[in-house]
Amino acid sequence: MEKTQYICPICNNTNLILRYEASYVYSYVIDSDEPGLKNEEEFMSFLYDKREQKDTRTFVECVTCGTQYPYTFLNGILEQKMQ
Ligand SMILES: [Zn+2]
Repeated sequence: MEKTQYICPICNNTNLILRYEASYVYSYVIDSDEPGLKNEEEFMSFLYDKREQKDTRTFVECVTCGTQYPYTFLNGILEQKMQ
């Protein structure tokens, strides 16, 4: 059976990880008590009024040397067929 292995071309290691990175802006309406309509006694950051996703990025990172690759490199460039 043929298996596929992924190899970092910089350091020849197989320690690759797929990462999904996202950034969000959380908004809390300023009202008479703690900021955020759902926060009364205490401010809890997870009780937000609005959350907007800004940027997302998916990439492959080599754990050993830290090099980052576009995840599309999984289709061929980082691939090595094993017997
Ligand atoms: Zn590497």
